[in-house]
Amino acid sequence: MLFSNIDYLTSNFSVERGFVGTRGAQIAYLGSEAPADAEEYGERYDGAGKLLIPGMYNTHAHVPMTLLRGYGENMALQDWLFKRIFPFEEKITEERAYPATSLAIAEMLRFGVVGFTDMYYFMDARARAVIESGIKANLCQGIMVFDAQTTYEQTPNKASNEHFVRQYHGQADGRLKIDLNIHSEYISNPQVVQAVGEHAVQLGVQTHVHISETKLEHAECKQRRGGLTPVQYFDSLDFFRAPCTAAHCVWTEPEDWAIMAERGVTVAANPASNAKLASGFAPVPEMLAAGVNVALGTDGVASNNSHNILKELYLFALLYKGSTGDPTVVTPAEALAAATINGARSQGRLDCGCLAVGQRADLVVLETNVAWAQPVHNALNNLVFSAQGSDVVLTMVDGAVLYRDGQWPTIDVEKAIAETQAATGDILAELAV
Ligand SMILES: [Zn+2]
Repeated sequence: MLFSNIDYLTSNFSVERGFVGTRGAQIAYLGSEAPADAEEYGERYDGAGKLLIPGMYNTHAHVPMTLLRGYGENMALQDWLFKRIFPFEEKITEERAYPATSLAIAEMLRFGVVGFTDMYYFMDARARAVIESGIKANLCQGIMVFDAQTTYEQTPNKASNEHFVRQYHGQADGRLKIDLNIHSEYISNPQVVQAVGEHAVQLGVQTHVHISETKLEHAECKQRRGGLTPVQYFDSLDFFRAPCTAAHCVWTEPEDWAIMAERGVTVAANPASNAKLASGFAPVPEMLAAGVNVALGTDGVASNNSHNILKELYLFALLYKGSTGDPTVVTPAEALAAATINGARSQGRLDCGCLAVGQRADLVVLETNVAWAQPVHNALNNLVFSAQGSDVVLTMVDGAVLYRDGQWPTIDVEKAIAETQAATGDILAELAV
């Protein structure tokens, strides 16, 4: 496809007007003039009144939890978990997880997400929806260990991780990757953390964890682990030898930031979820200053309630100004980097995340000729502070158009909605008896 006369963001987020050509799965041309072989690029896309940006990444989600959107609001965390979330989750099956995953993917594509990182169960259902849809994803299978004795070999995860890595890792032209999971410091034990970290190195895959989401979790870890914070505890067990994406990190401390920067741990910041569950504000300005790779995530929609990454971007770019009293922290460029290139890096996708020749053709086109995005003094500022998710008119992954003008060529969205509604209805009926 040849995007013509379109405003686009270069790799340093300056705005140029010109031509962006994709060939196969790659960006093959960028320039102010049309390429000499313009007709070789296939469809010519009229870019007037549009802005082309790199695809965005949602680096922390639990997509089958789409079944729980809006189920249980304004509740204290323990009530919410034990009265609402856990009983409902027990009723989710592969068959019910599949349409919910497809629906979540449709939602993400609609709002410009080209890749997501997901921690949940029902790997086959999620992998199927990822492969069919054309989106990129790093999926991990949840592991729950509630006692100090259990070893990794005694969990079902040792064997299933091996199986899932063999079956799915690198599938769909590398779009699908398998990560290994530790849920958190408090739902694991030291030998399991150590063994999973070693297994990830052995298998050549990454890890995905929750770290220091709540004040209580952070304080209890220090009490239990001889004063070590969750980051220090994981590090003491060599867990960060494999690349890791750590969700939340709200209560992390200066020494933690140095460790994460040193080990290349990505922080998946989830500002909406942290605000909604009253968990606090992740120290993003400090982590950025310490050189930590900070990316953006929505978390599951039970605690958000949306996979709309542009809403998350807006909140992320505003929040720390308010919480620190310093309006210069987290610039629009830093916020967009978190949503794009930092997310690609967190997934280990070095040929993704920015607009440059040779990079994967993961692109998003937004309508800018609209009342709420004019005039344009600075396209980046408008994108971060004025754009709406619904301004996205096209999302392309590896050169394939997966969303365009209200259509999803790879997902039957009506069917996904109907099946998700049916699955939710069935679960509620089962819970009522
Ligand atoms: Zn989470």
